[in-house]
Amino acid sequence: MSHRSARRTLLCVALLPLLMAAACGGTPPAEPEPAATDAIAYEGARIIVGDGTVLDSGTLLVEEDRLLAVGPSNTVTVPDGAERVDLSGRTVMPAIIDTHVHLREDEREPLIEDLQRKAYYGVGAVLSLGRGVSNVAFDLQSNPVGGAADYHTVGRGITAPEPGRTEVPSWITTEEEARAAVRELGTQDVEMVKIWVDDRGDQFDKLTPELYGAVIDEAHIQGLKVTAHVYSLEDAKGLLEAGIDAFAHGIRDMDVDEDVLAMFEDRPHVVLVPNLPGAGVATDLGWISGTIPADQLDEMQARSVDQPDAQEAFGIQARNLTRLNEAGVTIAFGTDGGAGWSPHAEMEDMVRAGMSPAEVLVAATANSANLLGLDDQGTLQPGKRADFVVLEANPLDDITNTRSIVDVYLRGEALDRAALSAAWVN
Ligand SMILES: [Zn+2]
Repeated sequence: MSHRSARRTLLCVALLPLLMAAACGGTPPAEPEPAATDAIAYEGARIIVGDGTVLDSGTLLVEEDRLLAVGPSNTVTVPDGAERVDLSGRTVMPAIIDTHVHLREDEREPLIEDLQRKAYYGVGAVLSLGRGVSNVAFDLQSNPVGGAADYHTVGRGITAPEPGRTEVPSWITTEEEARAAVRELGTQDVEMVKIWVDDRGDQFDKLTPELYGAVIDEAHIQGLKVTAHVYSLEDAKGLLEAGIDAFAHGIRDMDVDEDVLAMFEDRPHVVLVPNLPGAGVATDLGWISGTIPADQLDEMQARSVDQPDAQEAFGIQARNLTRLNEAGVTIAFGTDGGAGWSPHAEMEDMVRAGMSPAEVLVAATANSANLLGLDDQGTLQPGKRADFVVLEANPLDDITNTRSIVDVYLRGEALDRAALSAAWVN
């Protein structure tokens, strides 16, 4: 018996039960049932991928919590038996990543509610910057709950003593304390290290270059990135010199100069989260209604008036953001806040400052996922998490269209937004 016929014999034996009916006469086998699939095809939407590309009419093929395929609708093969959801006329974008939040982080229920509020507005993950230190916080980071944004924390932030402000962060005054604070973080499950470098309007002695230099050096030894709350141009330069990885705010005291632009250019890995202040212009907040009690909204609306001082402060940061963005600095996204809706106000402010809607959407998705090392979030690409937002209107035309949310999917599951908002206003 030749080698080949031996193999064929084996194959026949293996397939015998299946082939028997056909090969041995008798009744021919029925057409095989299509393989059961729980894939769902979301078809016909404009797809903002998150990396800067846009598909005019695309299909997202989702299985459980993952994207199986993403592409122009005529290129994606939808398996037989898959559920099909028609999204023509809609726009789909990746869930937003907010890299700078402060939430109610000491108790589980309030923290989960804050994360649900973020999710309601299309946020898939947040990073808490410096006060998320409770067991509840670390537990939620390790064990995310469904229907809420993923929670990440930097643990205890590090600052110079700021009597009268929060005492949660580590207060350091020596290089030894700086290194010890970072080494403690190195033993915990933290995403990066947060430092504050700010005299808070001359109230405190801020971290010196020696101290933040020690923090950054020790963090890099521990394999952790460092992000800085910064205020002044001078401190930004010192931090860049010391090897900072990211800024959690823009430069706020004056316009950037050529020196700092050159320093950023020499350090292309440094990420800027602009975290703009309020623009100081009266805005209609009607779009928030339905998620906070009406009297609270009325108060917020009454406070939303034109404020020349705020406009001037916004102007400095807006010009700085524009210049750094045009210089090619990587811009990511953060709100410094706890409100669910705040990412949409921040995106509008970034456009008001001079970025294009397309650039802002990349900042709020892919660039922010990269900053946090979230490899499977931030873009709509095969293999990534099925975290996406379905919009009624196109935010590339008008960034405030990110508010026209029809549905939010996290890990492939649609949020019950109506049930959430009903609970919040009652
Ligand atoms: Zn902050």
